[in-house]
Amino acid sequence: MSARMDSNGKHRLHLFLSPHLDDAVLSCGGQIHTLSAAGHSVVVYTVMAGKPQGPLPQSPILDDLHARWGTAGNPIAERRWEDIKAVRRLGGMARHGALLDCVYRVRYAPTGEPQALYPSEESLWQEPLPDDPALALLEAMPLLYPQADAVHVPLGAGGHVDHRLVRDWGRRLARANPDVAVFFYEDYPYTRHPDSIQHALKVFAGESLTPVVIPLEETALQAKIEAIACYESQISTFWPDVETMAAEVRATAEQIGGWKSAGGRMLAEREWQPGRA
Ligand SMILES: [Zn+2]
Repeated sequence: MSARMDSNGKHRLHLFLSPHLDDAVLSCGGQIHTLSAAGHSVVVYTVMAGKPQGPLPQSPILDDLHARWGTAGNPIAERRWEDIKAVRRLGGMARHGALLDCVYRVRYAPTGEPQALYPSEESLWQEPLPDDPALALLEAMPLLYPQADAVHVPLGAGGHVDHRLVRDWGRRLARANPDVAVFFYEDYPYTRHPDSIQHALKVFAGESLTPVVIPLEETALQAKIEAIACYESQISTFWPDVETMAAEVRATAEQIGGWKSAGGRMLAEREWQPGRA
């Protein structure tokens, strides 16, 4: 039983904020399944799930991504449907926000021409640009589900600009709503890169962040693997095939879980909680 599970069996609402259509399931799928199976309500709200209107900006990253995803026509409609299936497999509810993925966000040239704010692979891994419309929109965004008991946001491991934006939204939220428990989840699979977690934690310098290890049953890990497999368009970005994904997701859960005192591996996911030193 994880620290935040209510031992009285009280029904609680957990809100998982996902920058993109897959992050929360990739990072917290086992926990989402565990919470749902225990009778809690789980909402997975994808912040950057908006459908671009009008002509798309021209950029090398969009050409590359659309080819990689193999999604013709409207990739967002397909990706939303993948997300609905994945979150449903875990027993949660999928909700989709209207903000655009950073690769679709634009600034306008004096001629009225839309120009991609983040046109290249390298541009995705930086601080948000000052004229990124997502900055102002997220600053004005309140707690989406005021009845939420716990909110889970990305830690920002890997440094993707959209993950940084949602992390910072979570940090403001934690300051403004001391009654809501805010957890920062490790962004999988970006955590495969050595030092990515330590690097992400540096942003919180001066604040105490405590690791929270969430043990998983085998059924929860299996559900997570099946849910990740629902993101058919996204698998090829991270793995050569579904079997490799399943093996790596299991290995990561074993690595976080460590060894049981009685022998054998434990399965787990990990988040970080502020202010519990
Ligand atoms: Zn993401």
